[in-house]
This record gives sequence, C-alpha cells and structure tokens, in this order.
Amino acid sequence: MITVPEIVVLVVIAALGHAMALLWYIAARNKWKICERAIYDLPIGDKQIKRELRNSVHAPIHSVILAAFLYLGFFRNTSAASFVGSLLATMIWAEIWHYASHRAFHLKSLHWIHLEHHRSHLNSAFTAISFSFTEKLVFDLGLLAPLAVADWFLGLNVFGIAAWYIGYLVINSFSHANFELKSKDYNRLLGKVLTSTTYHSLHHSRYVGNFGLGTRLLDRIFNTEWDDYEPVYDRVSHEGRPLAKLRERAAPPAG
Ligand SMILES: [Zn+2]
Ligand SMILES: [Zn+2]
Repeated sequence: MITVPEIVVLVVIAALGHAMALLWYIAARNKWKICERAIYDLPIGDKQIKRELRNSVHAPIHSVILAAFLYLGFFRNTSAASFVGSLLATMIWAEIWHYASHRAFHLKSLHWIHLEHHRSHLNSAFTAISFSFTEKLVFDLGLLAPLAVADWFLGLNVFGIAAWYIGYLVINSFSHANFELKSKDYNRLLGKVLTSTTYHSLHHSRYVGNFGLGTRLLDRIFNTEWDDYEPVYDRVSHEGRPLAKLRERAAPPAG
C-alpha cells in the first residue's frame, strides 16, 4: 500500500526535472542576473531544444522505479534516524555508482546507452532531462537495488531516498545550464570538493573527463579531471570571458 505522502513525493520526483528546466528556460530568456556568466559564447539551435524535449518523456522513470520498490515492500522504516541514514547512504552510493556507470557508458560497447545525452555538446535548460530510457533505467536500478539489499539489514526510509532524488533533480538541472551561477570564488573552498555547472559543461563540450556527479573526488582519484577546469571557471566567472569554441582550453595552472 502506497500512502498519500508517498504519492506526493513520487509526483514531485516525476515532475521536478521539467519544472526546473522551465525555470532555467524562463531565467535565460528574460536574462536574469544569475544567467549573466555564460560558459560558452555559442548559439544553441532550436533543433537541439526540440530533441531534448522529445527525450524528456523518459524523465518520470525515476519516480516509477522508486514506486515499484515501494510497492514491493522496500524502504518502509519510518524512524528519523533511518531518514537521515537513508539520505546519507543514497548520497554516497549515488556518487560512486554514477561515476562507475558513467565511465562504463563511455566504453565503446556501452556508449549507445549514453549517446543521446551527449548529442548536446552545449548545455541548455533541457539537457538535464534529455537521455535515453535505458540510461536512466540502468542508473535507477543500479542505485536502488543495492539500497534494497541494505534495506533488509538496516531498514531504509523512502523519504530519505526521495530527498536525495529531489536534491539531485534540482542540482543536476542547473549543472546543465550554459551559465555559471555559483559564487565567483566558489573554487577557493567548497568548489575544491563539489562540482559546478562549468565542471559538467566541459564534460559535454569535450566529451570525456569530469565524469563526477556532485563531487570532484573520484575524478581526482582516477585522474579523469580536466586540468584547466579551475582556470576555465576563473575565466568565465572572474573575467566574464566565455569560451568561444567547444574544444577551447585555458592554460592549466603551473606546477
Ligand atoms: Zn558522459
Ligand atoms: Zn550531462
């Protein structure tokens, strides 16, 4: 039996990607101040937007798969400790699983799964909800199946997992814009660990590198981070000079 509060969060998860995309679309169209630091000074065609909107039909899959686990009786612990523990466990596992599956999707044999998302070399408000059905199916099953195993032993809470999805949908949405909205000095402290919109933009424009989701940690450990990421960030944010070509590089820091 799925309760009313559970249905409400499932509906939020199903619709949030589109709601966020619409917000960024309106922000960019009306030239809100948060959009002023462009990352690439290149046009995004209508054709791309139409393709991304067509692909976005798959976006509610997160909610459908979470609902299926719930229907099967998983994630029913209702304690506050379980809520916090479930949120933390999902955050940690999502970071690892996203990095591992993302690297795997870039292997020749599996790239067909991820190809649709990468057809956008420049990110628009709708790129975050543009992916193949298989990509999100693999991501969601790989995320939730190990959590379901943990649920047998520890008892997980669906709202803790749902809170991760809500945070993910919000952050992933603005991580796919063509403007940087973090503070100019973000990379002095928080940005040493966490990613940014510029970070993920380089993954799309250059096709490889910067595979991480919320943090830079795994890219650092596995040596897959672009070495000119911070100079690009400074150029976009401090100098207000967007990159003019997709493969353009900034000088990496000396040493
Ligand atoms: Zn990729
Ligand atoms: Zn992306």
